Amino acid sequence: MSRGALITGALAVALAAAAIVLAVVTDGGGSDSTSPDTAPTASAPPPEPPPPTRPDDTTPTTPPAAEPAPPPPAAEPASPRERPVVWVQAGHAEPREPGYRAQTGASGGPFGGEIGFTTRLAAAIVQRLRRAGVDARETPGEVTPNMAPGAAFVSVHHDVPGGQALVGAASTGGGENYYHGEGTPPPSPTPYADSAPHRPATAVSPQVASRSAGLARSVARRFGRIYTPANGANGSFAGAITDSGNTRVANYYAFYRSAADARVIIEAGGAGTDDAFLGRIDLIAAAISEGILDDLRSRGLLA
Ligand SMILES: [Zn+2]
Repeated sequence: MSRGALITGALAVALAAAAIVLAVVTDGGGSDSTSPDTAPTASAPPPEPPPPTRPDDTTPTTPPAAEPAPPPPAAEPASPRERPVVWVQAGHAEPREPGYRAQTGASGGPFGGEIGFTTRLAAAIVQRLRRAGVDARETPGEVTPNMAPGAAFVSVHHDVPGGQALVGAASTGGGENYYHGEGTPPPSPTPYADSAPHRPATAVSPQVASRSAGLARSVARRFGRIYTPANGANGSFAGAITDSGNTRVANYYAFYRSAADARVIIEAGGAGTDDAFLGRIDLIAAAISEGILDDLRSRGLLA
C-alpha cells in the first residue's frame, strides 16, 4: 500500500510538473493568437479618436476663418486688372474641326500651303500680344477648348490664288456651314445626310456681332496700311466685312465654337499674287496685333 501511495504521490508530482510545462508551452504558443487579438483592439481605438477630434478642431477653426472674411472684397478690385484672353486660331492647323477635317487650306503661298502660313502667323501674333500684356492663347483648326470665353477670337488664313484680303466678322442671322463628309463642297446651312457630326455650337448674339464688327474694323484699319505693293501685296483688300452677305466668311464654323465676346477671321491675301507680302510674317503679325490691341483698349480691357 505504501508503495502504491508513493507511486501515486510520484505520479501526482509528475502530473503536476507536466501541467506546469503545458501551461508554459500554452502561454508561449498563445502569444501568436494574442497578436491577432491585439491588432483589432489596437486598430479600433484610432478610428474612435479622430471623429470626435476633427469636429472639435473644425468647429473652433470655423469662427476664426469667418472673421478674416474681409480678404474677398480686397480680391475683387484685382479682377478688372486681369489680362484679357485672346484666342488666335492657326487656320486649318491639325487637329482640324470635326466636320471640316478635309479642308486642309489653300495650296501655294510662300510656305507651300496655307497651314505653313497660318501656324507661323498665329505664333507670331500670340508672342506680340503676350508682350503687350494680353493672355493670348493659340488654337488649331479644332477650336480648343470648345466654346471657351474670352475677349476676342481671331482666326488667320490666306486665300486661294485669285482670292483677296479681308477681315470678316461674326454676324447674326446665319449659322455654320455644313458639307458632305468632312468638308466637301458645296456648303449648306443645314446638314447633308452624309455630313460628319458637328460638335456643340455657340450662338452669335447681336452684342457679339456688334463687338465683332468693331474688332474687324480695328484690325482692317491697321492691316490696310501695310497691304501695299511696296510690301509685296498685288491683289485687293476688301476691308472689314461686317454683315452676313459673305456667307463663306459670316458662317465660318469657328465663330460657332468660340464664346469670345468678339470673333473675326482674317484672309491676309491670295496665294500667288500676294506671295511676297504673305512671306512677311512679322510685318503682318505686328499690324494684326496692333489692331487687336486698339480694340481691347477701346473696350477698356487693356491699359
Ligand atoms: Zn483658310
